[in-house]
Amino acid sequence: MVTQERKLVTEIPGPRSAELLARRKAAVPQGVGTVLPVFVERAEGAVLVDVDGNQLIDMGSGIAVVSVGHHAPEVVDRAAAQLDRFTHTCFMVTPYAGYVEVAEALNRLTPGDHEKRSCLFSAGAEAVENAVKIARRHTGRDSVVVFDHAYHGRTNLTMAMTAKNAPYKDGFGPFASDVYRAPMSYPFRDPDGMTGEEAATRALAVIESQVGAERTACVVIEPIQGEGGFVDPAPGFLPALVEWCREHGVVLVADEIQTGFGRTGDMFASDHEGVVPDIVTTAKALAGGLPLAGVTGRAEIMDAVTPGGLGGTYGGNPVACAAALGAIEIIERDDLAARARSIGDVLLPGLRSLQAAHPRIGDVRGRGAMVAIELVEPGTVTPDPVEAGRISAACHAAGVVTLTCGTWGNVVRLLPPLTIDDDLLADALGVLADAIESR
Ligand SMILES: *Cc1c(COP(=O)(O)O)cnc(C)c1O
Repeated sequence: MVTQERKLVTEIPGPRSAELLARRKAAVPQGVGTVLPVFVERAEGAVLVDVDGNQLIDMGSGIAVVSVGHHAPEVVDRAAAQLDRFTHTCFMVTPYAGYVEVAEALNRLTPGDHEKRSCLFSAGAEAVENAVKIARRHTGRDSVVVFDHAYHGRTNLTMAMTAKNAPYKDGFGPFASDVYRAPMSYPFRDPDGMTGEEAATRALAVIESQVGAERTACVVIEPIQGEGGFVDPAPGFLPALVEWCREHGVVLVADEIQTGFGRTGDMFASDHEGVVPDIVTTAKALAGGLPLAGVTGRAEIMDAVTPGGLGGTYGGNPVACAAALGAIEIIERDDLAARARSIGDVLLPGLRSLQAAHPRIGDVRGRGAMVAIELVEPGTVTPDPVEAGRISAACHAAGVVTLTCGTWGNVVRLLPPLTIDDDLLADALGVLADAIESR
């Protein structure tokens, strides 16, 4: 039983973590980054316990994965019971019920009440790749439209779809072709007063002139961008894109890998404006920490692929499926979307009052428990990644795990487990405030 409190007994990282860090450096390539080199021994709820006995508040949830909290009994018990029965058969060889039950849950929970199908994979990037395969097969078209600041993964196709060069793409080309990039609605950086509809018109003009609807298989968009900086498009942007896609037979893919399962205060971020995507990709919070990803879409689109065209050895692993059923049970039963909204009701006003006193906080944004501050040179929109790094490092030293993001690395983002209690959340916000003020 890990008490839900922050407690430091050594400096961060402590001596045992430092020892492991030296071994890590000798054994693991530097290309696999480290945000905060404390080595974790166990975790429960919103608290990580490191090998030196420090207790840190996890405001990153392993990048929006453990939304139901670390070591949630429903996840652990179901996964353990499945481990005891069998670990693998390959769903394409001899199927099992857990996969079907997760598919049914995804079909029920994702936006829209049309007939749907879901297939399962192991990682988010794989889900995005398969969504593109399905959209191409269904439409008979090749082109994929993505947006500025987009992040869709690290495989070859998803690198091409991801916007940011270093560190994701630099030196890793050549990239997949037929990927086109349109301007995103980015209220903090767009011309003053630009509406979502106007931003959509700007994006669609680029798509129509550089690609053409008749060549476009799919438009892939994160309803709130994740790695790209928690960019929350102006209201009206997503609905206008969806309408254009419908009109032209283009498949609208909502990449909800980071935003899904209650994170933004709705079950899916698309729900916020009542947007019904043709395909939704999921992963991260889906299975409470086990590797599982999903592609859910309209039955007629999903069934365009002939038998054998989709799959993978491990996709929809039975242990991961069992964990997902546990995670989904918690998310629905405890209404974690509502809990995300109340987390936002603490974080957003807290950060806005800090912004009033600190001109380097150019923007406070996000929804629910997906919240960020964008750091800039005072009075400008010039990115200040040094300040974002400084704030994040100060949080780490005080025992709060925060992540940065954004095209310029100048955004500090908060993604706590949705089950975090009020005291711990207040403590984490206080640490962040001290970090901002310690400049
Ligand atoms: C994390 C992420 C991915 C990639 O998922 P992996 O499991 O790391 O492959 C794709 N899209 C979005 C929006 C993500 O946040």
